[in-house]
Amino acid sequence: MSLPTLAIVGRPNVGKSTIFNRILGERISIVEDTPGVTRDRIYGNSEWLGKSFSVIDTGGIDLGDEPFMSQITQQAEIAIEEADVILFLTSIENGVTDADERVAQILYRADKPVVLAVNKVDNPERRQDIYDFYSLGFGEPLPLSGTHGIGLGDILDAIVAAFPDEVKDDDDDSIKFSFIGRPNVGKSSLVNAILGENRVIVSNIEGTTRDAIDTKFEADGETFTMIDTAGIRKRGKVYENTEKYAVMRALRAIDRSDVVLVVLNAEEGIREQDKKVAGYAHEAGRGIIIVVNKWDTLDKDNHTMSDFENIVRAEFQYLDYAPIVFVSALTKQRLKNLPQMIIQVAENQTRRIQSSVLNDVLMDAIAVTPTPTVNGKRLRVYYMTQVAVKPPTFVVFVNDPDLLHFSYERFLINQLRRTFDFEGTPVHLIARHRK
Ligand code: GDP
Ligand code: GDP
Repeated sequence: MSLPTLAIVGRPNVGKSTIFNRILGERISIVEDTPGVTRDRIYGNSEWLGKSFSVIDTGGIDLGDEPFMSQITQQAEIAIEEADVILFLTSIENGVTDADERVAQILYRADKPVVLAVNKVDNPERRQDIYDFYSLGFGEPLPLSGTHGIGLGDILDAIVAAFPDEVKDDDDDSIKFSFIGRPNVGKSSLVNAILGENRVIVSNIEGTTRDAIDTKFEADGETFTMIDTAGIRKRGKVYENTEKYAVMRALRAIDRSDVVLVVLNAEEGIREQDKKVAGYAHEAGRGIIIVVNKWDTLDKDNHTMSDFENIVRAEFQYLDYAPIVFVSALTKQRLKNLPQMIIQVAENQTRRIQSSVLNDVLMDAIAVTPTPTVNGKRLRVYYMTQVAVKPPTFVVFVNDPDLLHFSYERFLINQLRRTFDFEGTPVHLIARHRK
């Protein structure tokens, strides 16, 4: 599923990140116990009038030492490349500036709808000043106050109305997956090695999405769509080498994937950035396989694999459900196992358990480990039912949801995992008060 995308552009300090956060609202959900997940997000999903979309804050793509105007230019180019609709943000504070005009010039070249907003219109007296912004050439400027949240509804109306009716995507039955990981772990090499080993059906489908090159291939009797992120398409633009941009690309690939293969580099070990990337995939609820690449580079004895596995388990505790595979893109060691592993994880992600079976498991679990008592009040668990797949999501009806603490929730999830094959997929449990 590919969502229409909104990109926010504008010179620094006009309020892009404020507006970005407002648009995302409470939808920025960060799993509390996920280490390494940064809060300074530049990409997320939101919804307005029942329409879902992705949002990019191009102002958050830090282009390092680039001169001011060049940064603005590149952020606008990223917006044009990634977005279906562009929110061009300016501010009433300084009127129309040279930098605003520079952004406008870049955006003229794009064949994309642009919604022009003037931020920091905190009180009605300032409203008349917004007409100066007509000079930017994007029609009626819409007033906004990021601080007070005024005007955002009208702007979102305009944005949603400008989205294309349908974002073209390959909504077929193939299993969609991607390799993600920090630079140099071997993503492109893995892509090429896998394609070299399997029958490619369609390659480089133009027009499926803007930001990825999709390749369809067959293996083990299944059809796969491989969503390549940054790997193959190295066009050498400055911004393509920036970390934030790479992270945004990875996030977009994660959004479209059923199964995400988190690639680590055996030669270099685990770095902070690996955890960040894996954290995103976990949060998104995708199927996950941990792929330790460059396995050929280590001198191995009987313990090497289990030692490495222990390190991975310790560093990625929240990914305890993800299988680990040790491969080499260079020697092709164990690459043949990947398709079958992906199939299995995709299957586990869509597994549905009948309520009757589920409740047998629940009752057995309670019999073995009685529900806890919190402040003299005992948790009572009545009934469980599965409400969603991808990831499997269960609702458990209880006397008081506040009494279901993390440890007992974890216990229940573990019981489910012991009984059913959910390897590679997160399992979500929601407590509801029994009606
Ligand atoms: P960015 O650089 O474009 O992402 O801008 P920020 O979102 O970081 O905002 C820059 C500054 O403007 C911050 O101090 C914000 O609190 C402030 N700001 C954002 N929106 C408004 C607004 O509507 N009114 C006023 N008065 N200040 C705002
Ligand atoms: P990416 O940035 O994650 O796409 O990484 P690349 O695929 O470009 O690989 C980075 C470097 O690691 C290249 O020099 C590759 O030849 C090398 N490389 C990739 N996979 C392996 C592997 O399994 N073993 C060894 N020894 N080198 C590898």
